[in-house]
Order: sequence, then C-alpha cells, then structure tokens
Amino acid sequence: MSPSTIRILDNKGEEIKTVGFKRFGFDCEVPVDDLRALYLRPHYSSNSEDESGKAKVANSDHAAFTKGTDAYQSQAIYDPTNKSISYTTLTRFPPVKLLPPSERKRILVTGGAGFVGSHLVDRLMLLGHEVTVLDNFFTGSKTTVSHWVGHPNFEMVRHDVVEPFMIECDQIYHLACPASPPHYQYNAVKTIKTSFMGTLNMLGLAKRTKARFLISSTSEVYGDPEVHPQPEDYWGHVNPIGPRACYDEGKRVAETLTYGFHRQDGVDVRVVRIFNTYGPRMNPYDGRVVSNFIVQALKGEDLTVYGDGKQTRSFQYVHDLIDGMIALMNSDETRPVNIGNGDEFSIGEFAELVREIVEKVQDEDGVKPARRCEVIYKDLPTDDPKQRRPDNTRARQTLDWAPRWTVRMGLEEMVRYYKAKMEEGSL
Ligand code: NAD
Ligand code: UDP
Repeated sequence: MSPSTIRILDNKGEEIKTVGFKRFGFDCEVPVDDLRALYLRPHYSSNSEDESGKAKVANSDHAAFTKGTDAYQSQAIYDPTNKSISYTTLTRFPPVKLLPPSERKRILVTGGAGFVGSHLVDRLMLLGHEVTVLDNFFTGSKTTVSHWVGHPNFEMVRHDVVEPFMIECDQIYHLACPASPPHYQYNAVKTIKTSFMGTLNMLGLAKRTKARFLISSTSEVYGDPEVHPQPEDYWGHVNPIGPRACYDEGKRVAETLTYGFHRQDGVDVRVVRIFNTYGPRMNPYDGRVVSNFIVQALKGEDLTVYGDGKQTRSFQYVHDLIDGMIALMNSDETRPVNIGNGDEFSIGEFAELVREIVEKVQDEDGVKPARRCEVIYKDLPTDDPKQRRPDNTRARQTLDWAPRWTVRMGLEEMVRYYKAKMEEGSL
C-alpha cells in the first residue's frame, strides 16, 4: 500500500488532517501532511540520476510521503560503489506562516535536536516563529532539524546547558536531557548535572529576559507509583539512590527549582509531565521499548520483554504531546500538567500488538518474512516501575486537551517510517 493512500483516523474514527488548534490566542494548527513531508523524507537516496542530475527518489516509500514537496527536500545521495554520500543543499524551504511582528515570538528550544524537540521545532517553524535550537548532540542529531538550517527564522547552536547561555527570547521550551534509561544511565552524574545546572541556567535566562519558561518533566517523578492512575497531586514513590535516580530525582529537583524561581522571582513557568511518548525520529537504538520492539520485529528478531511482561505503560503519539506542550505554554496554567495517553498496556500485550502491526504492514506491502518473531523474556531492570497511566483530568479541564491518536494508528506510522529507513539503508 502506498503511504500516501493511508488515512489517519483518530480515536473517534474521524480523519486526522491537521494537528494543533486555535486556543489561548496562539494558533498552532498545521496540516499533518506538511509535518509528515518533513519527518518522512528520505535520508539517503540511490546514486542514479535523471537527465537534470537530480537523484531519483520517485519510487521509494518516502517519495509518496513527500509528494509535491520535492523542491523543499535536500538530498543525501548514497553511492554504494564508493560507500560515499554527496549532499545537496536546499534552494527553497517549506513555506512558513507570515506572522505580524506582534505575533511572531523568539523561541528557544533546548534539546531541540532530540526526538520530541525536533517535532516541536517543525511545528513552531511552520507556524512562523523564530526558533533557536540549543543542543550538545549527546542523544540528538543535527539531521533531525537539518531541513531548517539556513532558514532566516532558524538558528542552531551547539551548547551544553550546564554552561550559562545568553540570548534574547520570549519563550523557552527546556527539553535538554537524555530520556531513555540506557542513555541517562550512561553517565549518571552528567544526567543529574544537566537536570540541575541546565535548568538553573535556563531559569536564570528566563528571569533576565522575562521569557515564559516551560520544562519537560516526566511521569518518572512518580517513580514506582502506588497510586494508579497518577494525578498531578500525587507526590510519587522514588528510590533516591537507585540506577534511575539520576533521571527521576534530577527531574524532581528541576521542578523544585522551577517553582523556586516562580515564587521567589516571579518567573512565568509551565511544567509538563510527559508520559511515554513515541513516534518517527525516535533513535531506533536508544533502548526504549517502542523502538526496540518495532526494529526487532522488522528485522525478524525476537521481541525482548523484560521481566514477566506484566508491568504496564501507556504510550502517546508525538503529535498529541506537541499539541499539549504548545497548549500549556500558551495557557495560564502554572501547575504541573500530565500529558499522556490513557490507553494502558502490559508490556507483554504490547509486544504482541507491535508484532501484529508489523505483520499487517508487511502483508500490505507484499513482504513475506522468513519466520514469525517470538516474544522472549529477559531480566527486569532494577526499579522498573510496575504500572503507569496518566490521570489527564487537569489537561482536559484547563487546556481542553485530550489525545487523538490511537496507539494502533501511531504505531503503524512509526513502523512505516522505520521500514522505509531500512529499505533506503539508513537503519
Ligand atoms: P532525546 O534524548 O531524543 O532528546 C534530548 C535532547 O537533549 C537531545 O537532542 C540531546 O542531545 C539534548 N541534550 C542532552 N543533554 C544536553 C545538555 N547537557 N546540553 C544540551 N543538550 C542536551 O529525548 P526525548 O525523548 O526527545 O526527550 C526530550 C525531553 O522530554 C527530555 O527532557 C525528557 O526528559 C522529556 N521526556 C520525554 C519522554 C518520552 O517518552 N520521549 C517522556 C518523559 C519526559
Ligand atoms: N522494556 C522491555 N523490552 C525492551 C525495552 C523495554 O520489556 O526491549 C520494558 C521496560 O523494562 C519497561 C517498559 O518496557 O518496563 C518501558 O521501558 P522504556 O525504557 O521504554 O521506558 P520507561 O521504563 O522509562 O517507562
């Protein structure tokens, strides 16, 4: 099936044509196809060229997603003979909204080259704002936002948030922090420094510039929760000295700092507690469960469930998260807000679901796998939370936000994204 013929249906069975909304005086609606053309664009194309010297991508899965936007696609042309890549630069950027200066904001996104950050950057750029990405590329990559490099509204700065940074801005989305357990445990001391000193520096910047400050906190502040689902007024159950503490306690202290600056210095703050999120551009090898299962299933490897698979998580698609973050930033809500999908799965069930969706996509594309992947069991990591599901009442009431993407729909798009990357040889 051609990706361009896939209709995306929301949890009410209605077609999703746009994401975002007009609310709180901040119009953040964009056509979903404009976003897909950015994240589903090819990374490499073959070295065959047409008469004009342009690389041919017409028949690839990616080309179906990016149809009509070729003029806005730079190319990395792979030559298998020499194992070399030749890059072309963009001559034209995707069209962005023309905003009057009174509505155009200067927005700093720390961690903007990461998975969540890059989707936020796409949205803010298409909406016509001026965006600066600050990233040390520890887990993020320049390629996630390279399609904006050179645009007059865009700037990318390599910088570590543990060092102070000066800029003039109106809003700060502070996302810089590794998010997957293997990445944040790789250098636990650095992770906690990033959470504490990075947040201190960015709050100092917000104080000086009077910018509104939003921090991406996490459901991990609830630890291994004894209250289920988790509302924002639950204080959590965190092991302060375990292997996850550098991240969990780091985010808890970052929230404490945020409210310290709010109460003491009047900094205008927003705190989003993000629950497990997945989507295209997620690093396929960052060890999180969604990317692990999809890549394993596509490669015909067995799916590795940790423990007995009875622990639960709820998974939200990245566009729903970005809607929630933008809504929160532009609302008057200063209390923490959970943003997550309430559909809860045991990890064992989730492995079966991913396998089924990968098989469905392969079947539609006429791919016959050599064997059926098995679900296998491995040791449960220390302090792995037993259950997790957001109580979204506050987000519904104060932001009028609710998730729209079903897990099935989101997974299918992500499977197609990884599959196309595998076919082009970049995964
Ligand atoms: P990610 O690892 O893809 O992105 C993090 C980005 O921050 C990367 O680009 C990385 O290079 C950058 N970074 C890390 N340390 C830095 C430093 N010291 N200085 C500058 N840049 C630095 O992770 P993500 O999934 O995109 O997560 C983004 C944010 O959302 C994080 O703050 C994370 O805690 C939060 N969050 C994510 C999820 C999720 O499921 N994705 C869940 C809860 C919270
Ligand atoms: N998990 C798993 N197999 C994997 C990766 C993760 O069973 O290959 C489990 C993990 O033990 C946890 C859940 O899936 O119970 C979610 O893990 P992830 O690292 O994605 O996020 P977090 O634990 O931070 O919620």
